[in-house]
Amino acid sequence: MLDIKITKTATPKAKPADETKLGFGKIFSDHMFLMDYDLEQGWHDPRVVPYAPFVLDPACVIFHYAQEIFEGMKAYRTADNTIQLFRPDCNAKRMQDSCDRLCIPQIPEEDYIQAVKTLVEVDKDWVPHTDGASLYIRPFIFATDVGMGVHASHNYVFCIICAPSGAYYAEGIDPVRIYVEDDYIRAAPGLTGFTKCGGNYAASIKAGALAAEKGFAQVLWLDGVEKKYVEEVGSMNIMFKIDGKVYTAACTGTVLPGVTRRSCIELLRDWGYEVIEGKLAIEDVMAAGHDGRLDEVFGTGTAAVVSPVKELDWKGDKVFICDGKIGPVTQKLYDTMTGIQWGRLPDTKGWIVPVCKG
Ligand SMILES: *Cc1c(COP(=O)(O)O)cnc(C)c1O
Repeated sequence: MLDIKITKTATPKAKPADETKLGFGKIFSDHMFLMDYDLEQGWHDPRVVPYAPFVLDPACVIFHYAQEIFEGMKAYRTADNTIQLFRPDCNAKRMQDSCDRLCIPQIPEEDYIQAVKTLVEVDKDWVPHTDGASLYIRPFIFATDVGMGVHASHNYVFCIICAPSGAYYAEGIDPVRIYVEDDYIRAAPGLTGFTKCGGNYAASIKAGALAAEKGFAQVLWLDGVEKKYVEEVGSMNIMFKIDGKVYTAACTGTVLPGVTRRSCIELLRDWGYEVIEGKLAIEDVMAAGHDGRLDEVFGTGTAAVVSPVKELDWKGDKVFICDGKIGPVTQKLYDTMTGIQWGRLPDTKGWIVPVCKG
């Protein structure tokens, strides 16, 4: 158990008046969690303090060599006013995997969960009340050694901030157009594709910006070696329903192992669908699209939960999916996942961790 010291702000901010205009990750709650690491003490001094800027030496490792990792999760308010988390143990374990790859000292799973729960409880009034809105939680760790040498830092900060965020689909679920990226790559075997490290995102911004200019919501990444097999989209995993079976890339090092992905696979299998985690060639996806066998395509991730895809463009070839509408399996996954998360459906899988009464 961490001995977390809590210092509450003397100047609480006004809560957002209109929760339908929150957007995503734009405003932040009153407090943040901090814990420091050094070689002598290990992780120490866990505390909740008023949300405030950092003062950092310009020569810190984080600014030059990007030794940093992060997580993303949400706190949900149920109709009976319980504040709850969805599978925080999965995020805790994934952060340990990211830490290991980036040579960052790991944080025990129970300490991570305790830190998240403590901060959410302190800022529980920031968990939105509006249907579909939630408190987005962003834990991250960054290296603070001062100096230009490339090495694993001896000093780190673990921080958690919270952003009340609006319903992802405020205007109703809107299927998206996806650009299949054939030039840039996101990951390759041996690299950091399976981690949530900031560097992965820095390297992906250009492809995303070029696709956005052409009117696409996201890029679909192909494998970094042959550019032949589908991997994932911007910040979501992706699934294809072809001839009644569901296909998604296996988590073998180049794909981010999403908590939503994993939960959707479990639900699909419970419902009797065959889910194949493995290699799926983009050529086969396009062919299935052209002869009417590509039933549904959807992304999965914490922010959107599931995001239906209505169009794929690969080297000028286009396929259109489900007449531009959300497919029945995508809809059922969305309803079931959000039902469990917001407490409208029973948590038969043991995925929910309550934090406190709102
Ligand atoms: C976070 C993330 C996902 C989705 O993971 P969830 O745990 O479901 O939110 C997928 N792909 C990438 C690249 C990500 O960073």
